[in-house]
This record gives sequence, structure tokens and C-alpha cells, in this order.
Amino acid sequence: MKRIDNYINGSNVSISNKTLPIDDPSTGETIAEVTIASKEDFDEAIKSSKASQLNWANTTPLKRSRILSNYKNLIEKNMDELASLVSKEHGKTLDDAKGSVTRGLEVVEFACGIPHLLKGEFSQNVGTNIDSWSIRQPLGICAGITPFNFPAMVPMWMYPLSIACGNSFILKPSEKDPSCSIKLAELFTEAGLPNGVFNVLQGDKDVVDLILQSNDISSVSFVGSTPVARYIYQQSSIYGKRVQALGGAKNHLVVMPDANLDQAVDGIIGAGYGSAGERCMAVSVAVAVGDIADELVEKIHVESQKLKVAPWTDPDSDMGPVISKLHKEKIENYISIGVKEGAKLVEDGRNYKIQGYENGYFVGPTLFDKVTKDMTIYKEEIFGPVVSVVRAKNYDEALNLVNDHDFGNGTSVYTSDGEIARHFTTNSKIGMVGVNVPIPVPMAFHSFGGWKQSLFGDHSVHGMEGVHFYTKLKTVTSRWPKSIQSGPEFVLPTN
Ligand code: NAD
Repeated sequence: MKRIDNYINGSNVSISNKTLPIDDPSTGETIAEVTIASKEDFDEAIKSSKASQLNWANTTPLKRSRILSNYKNLIEKNMDELASLVSKEHGKTLDDAKGSVTRGLEVVEFACGIPHLLKGEFSQNVGTNIDSWSIRQPLGICAGITPFNFPAMVPMWMYPLSIACGNSFILKPSEKDPSCSIKLAELFTEAGLPNGVFNVLQGDKDVVDLILQSNDISSVSFVGSTPVARYIYQQSSIYGKRVQALGGAKNHLVVMPDANLDQAVDGIIGAGYGSAGERCMAVSVAVAVGDIADELVEKIHVESQKLKVAPWTDPDSDMGPVISKLHKEKIENYISIGVKEGAKLVEDGRNYKIQGYENGYFVGPTLFDKVTKDMTIYKEEIFGPVVSVVRAKNYDEALNLVNDHDFGNGTSVYTSDGEIARHFTTNSKIGMVGVNVPIPVPMAFHSFGGWKQSLFGDHSVHGMEGVHFYTKLKTVTSRWPKSIQSGPEFVLPTN
């Protein structure tokens, strides 16, 4: 059985002999096992992170940028292998996996500009012959804890920029699909990154707790479900760490009566069922405004039935399985709850079977109509291929739905009215907003992050928010007096 180890100080190593199984979600078979790092593994990772960090911080930003540039080339060269590692353990289609690696690569490209991004501010003569400047310095050792649904992209939201800023970084990837993180670490070493600057520790909650409680780690970046995000935020604060903890979502796509309905349906189908709905920016709620609801539901239904649900090895697959047997059961249970609470089940994806893959974790595209805001399937994140249509009388009612929801990751409006679009982008209480765009995921040079229960902490990830998160600000005030000796001053200096 293939074993996936930690990556510490430039090598695949594990002291621990405890492991967890990794399944192929398309077949249900166990295909590998992953180490659960022990305290000894953790201590080794800290030792090598510490030993490398100061030298790395003192390496000029331009030299760091050149290593990142080599890394970018290597990721491009190894794109097919990286994507198939993602697909094999996660189950998403190969094209989707490639897309996700590319979105991660964009952060590496952004981080290549680190000499420019780290430029400080300078003021001459803040007082007579006194100058002042601000610089940003690395934090030390940073850690990242990431979810199963983007095993390449989400880690890459974090470590390239943190490392570009002069930190060393410890990644704790999801235990469900850990192989890609090892390949990404090996490629970074090949690109010229000194050993120890990027370490990967495998495992679950126990390893996370070692990270949270460590005095050697300065910051924690987390992406995952909301209950765990809240825990990470609270524990990191108790242990005095800088923290950004991104949580779950329930993204609404509002369809106005004047929208191009076919475009809206394409948006809902792609963003609702793509990656089997296992995206934090998936559209899980379609809000039908006014009298278009019947037509919208009918069109979504027709299109959802055309989707090909198949393993990632089938090049025509539109969506693959969900991550685990447990998760399949959880999604199917939500569908049953929806029925029990009175939503109209238009298309039922439970008990979905594919010939030759009967033990795979497949859930078919599922569509609910007449979902109301008191229902469990509306309030909670399902994280599967389930789209709920909620009917709203008018725009105000639709906007209130968006704003009253506990989650605030992404939302979108489909309309041909510029005034509505502008009102929506201004007044929606959501971190990432789209107009006639179903998944408004910001590019690497902007920042990604939700509001409300979708993000705990003050900083979004990547973009300038990332640079600020991974550095601390220092301001210097400096004077070089020659002969003036004016004696001690007891009054706060003013200008
Ligand atoms: P998860 O919260 O179960 O796990 C995330 C990470 O936390 C993993 O590395 C896991 O090992 C660790 N973990 C799990 N339980 C823990 C515990 N009790 N204590 C400490 N650590 C723990 O999330 P998941 O199922 O891997 O990923 C899906 C979730 O991630 C969804 O809720 C999705 O919306 C969210 N997500 C959010 C974003 C975003 O940008 N907001 C992006 C991707 C995924």
C-alpha cells in the first residue's frame, strides 16, 4: 500500500507509524494511507523551520522571487501530474482539477512580485531633520490548515506568499487527499527553496492542536468548515497567534425577472453542480424573483438531467463523486430532511448508481423548489450537488434573504438593470459579489474572503491582504544630530 509521509527538511519522512486510509471516491477502494504526524514529527518540522527561517528572511526579496519564478515554471511543467493527483484522491474532473491548480499558480505569479509588494513608505522631515519610514518584516514560522475540496489551490493561497515574505511555512493539508501537497513541496525544493522553509505535516485534529498550542508558530491560516474555523480562531487567539480562519458558505444567486434566463441557468448549473457542489463558492441557493420562478425551475431541471456524472477518468464527465461514504450519507440525509420539511423535490440524486462503480460515492444532481428560509436545507451548508430554489416576490425580499443568512462568502445577481446591479453590489453584506458572473472568485492580485460566519479574523487571503497578514509593520523614526544638544525633552514632540 502506498504511504504518504510528511515532508520535513526536504525529505519524505515520518517517525509516527500511525496512518489513515485514503479512498478512491469513484470506487470506494482504499488506494493509499497517510501518516498521522506524531509529536516527534511535529518537533522535527519546527526544528527545521526554525533553522531555515532567519537565513531565508535575510535572502534578498529579488533572490526569493527568482526561486518563486523557477517554481512557477516547474508547476506548469508538472501540471498534468498535479491535476491527476488531485482528481485521483478528490474525484473531481481532470479539467476542473487543472483549473484549480492554475488558480493556485496565479498566487505564485503574484508572489514573484514580492520586491515590489514589500516596498515600504518613507517620509522626509517628519520633524526638522527627522525622517520616518515603515517597513514590513516576516512573522517567523507560519502555519496553514486546509480542506479536502481544493488540495492544491487552497494551500497555494497561503504558502507561496508567506514564503515570499520571508517566513518559513508548515502546511497541514486535509488527511483525505494529501498527495498533491507533497508533490508541490518537492517541486519547491527542486526550484531552489532551501530545506526547511516549506514543511508538510500530515494528520488530523491532533496535529492541528499541536500547531495551535506551539509557541514557535506565529500565525495560522485556516480554510475549512465554520465550526472548525471558529475553534481555530478562538484557540489561536488564546495562544497569541495572528489568525485568519475561513469557513463555510451558502451562496445565493439572485435571478431578476429581466435577466437573460439561459445565462442564469448556465451559471446555476455550472456553479451548483460543478465539482459535485463541493466548492465554498458553489451556488447552493437560486433566488427566483417575481414571476420567472416556474420557467427557471423547469430550465434548471432540464439542464441538470443532461449532466454526465462519471469518474474523473472519463473525459466527458461533468461531475464526479463526493469525497467519502460518510459525506454521501450526510448529503442524502439532508435531501430526506428537505422532503420532510416540505420542500418540493424536483430531482432526486439519492441512491445514484453508475455501472462498474457501484461502490463509488456518487450523488446525482438534486433540485429542490419552494424552499423557505426556516428549512434546514436552506440554513445549513450541504456541500454537495443540491440546488435549492427560493421564490422571492421582489428584489428587496431577495436582498434580505442574502443579507439575513448567517454565511457571507459569495453571492451573485443576474440582471440587465445597471441600477439593480449597483444597488446589489453596494448593499449586499457579503465578501465576494458577482454581477452576471456565477462564481465571483477574486484573482490572486485581489483578495479572497467572506463575511459573517464565512471568515473569522481581519484579513482575507492572498493579494495585499495576504502580504499584510504574513508581515508585521515596523516604523522607524531617525535623526542624525551633529552638534545640537538640547537636553532632555519632557513634552511630547509636535511639529
Ligand atoms: P473541515 O473543517 O472538516 O477540515 C478542514 C481542516 O481542518 C482539515 O485539514 C482537517 O484535518 C482539520 N480539522 C477537521 N476537524 C477538525 C477539528 N475538530 N479540529 C481541528 N482541526 C480539524 O473541512 P473539509 O470538510 O475538509 O472542507 C469542506 C469545508 O471547507 C466546507 O465547509 C467548505 O465551505 C469549506 N471551505 C471554505 C473555503 C473558503 O474559502 N471559505 C474554501 C474551501 C472550503
